[in-house]
Amino acid sequence: MDELTAVLRAREFVNKVAPSVFPVSVKSYAAEIGAAIYVDADMAPYEQGYCVEVRGKFRICVNEKDDETRRRFTVCHEIAHRVLGLPSEHDGVSSWSYAKRSPNEILCDVFAAELLLPYKLFKPMVEKAAIGLSSIYDLAEGCGASRLATASRFATLVRAPCAFVLAEQGKVRYAARSTALREARAWIPLRADLPNASAASRLRADMACSCPEELDADVWFENWSRGGILLEDARHLQKWDQTVALLWFEDEEMPSETTDPRQREEEENGLAELDGILPWPGKKRRK
Ligand SMILES: [Zn+2]
Repeated sequence: MDELTAVLRAREFVNKVAPSVFPVSVKSYAAEIGAAIYVDADMAPYEQGYCVEVRGKFRICVNEKDDETRRRFTVCHEIAHRVLGLPSEHDGVSSWSYAKRSPNEILCDVFAAELLLPYKLFKPMVEKAAIGLSSIYDLAEGCGASRLATASRFATLVRAPCAFVLAEQGKVRYAARSTALREARAWIPLRADLPNASAASRLRADMACSCPEELDADVWFENWSRGGILLEDARHLQKWDQTVALLWFEDEEMPSETTDPRQREEEENGLAELDGILPWPGKKRRK
């Protein structure tokens, strides 16, 4: 199964339950597959959840030691196993490490993120929000979803050219890109080291950084010829040696496609004068 199939199946599922407010009710989702949620006090700290049938009744069990956000995700993840028909591969899998998760587990995570942040409800919020990690973390809080899942969904759905990158032990493990970046082939190589000049890399090295920072787009994007200035907002989690970075183009616009730096400079500086219309900064900026 590929990711698109998992996404489409998740959207079908969401349409059946039709949630209308955040945080969405995971109980209603569980009820849709005839399951009740059960909080298990005897699970090991690293375990998240499992499904079991007790006297003909289907139960989704979540770990009492996990917080509410994690439990909500687990419920949706377990629903994914059931709906997609993918077996659990939870042995020795860490809940936080992307690198160590199997492809089937990642598909179930993708499905779960679609349930927690349904496209129809979440997309309008994304377009209204300011681009930046703190505004995304506020959204996560309001939606009862994890910061990583929310940031990843945000970058995927936002209209502006934007990407969200997750690195573990200094290596890029995951990158979500908006349609604008995917279409422009802004490629962030996986398994590569965080770029030296990036704010993410400097934060990880314990160097000062006043995020969001401005930097050339080709610091992050491989074989990038459009130029342009990226804004990078980054955070580093020492505990797990996990680094995240949100990237977007200033003014939320993709630089035009030209490989000649002189021509690019002319376009950037010259055109505004030619049409005689002064660019109105407030128009492009978000609140
Ligand atoms: Zn699983």
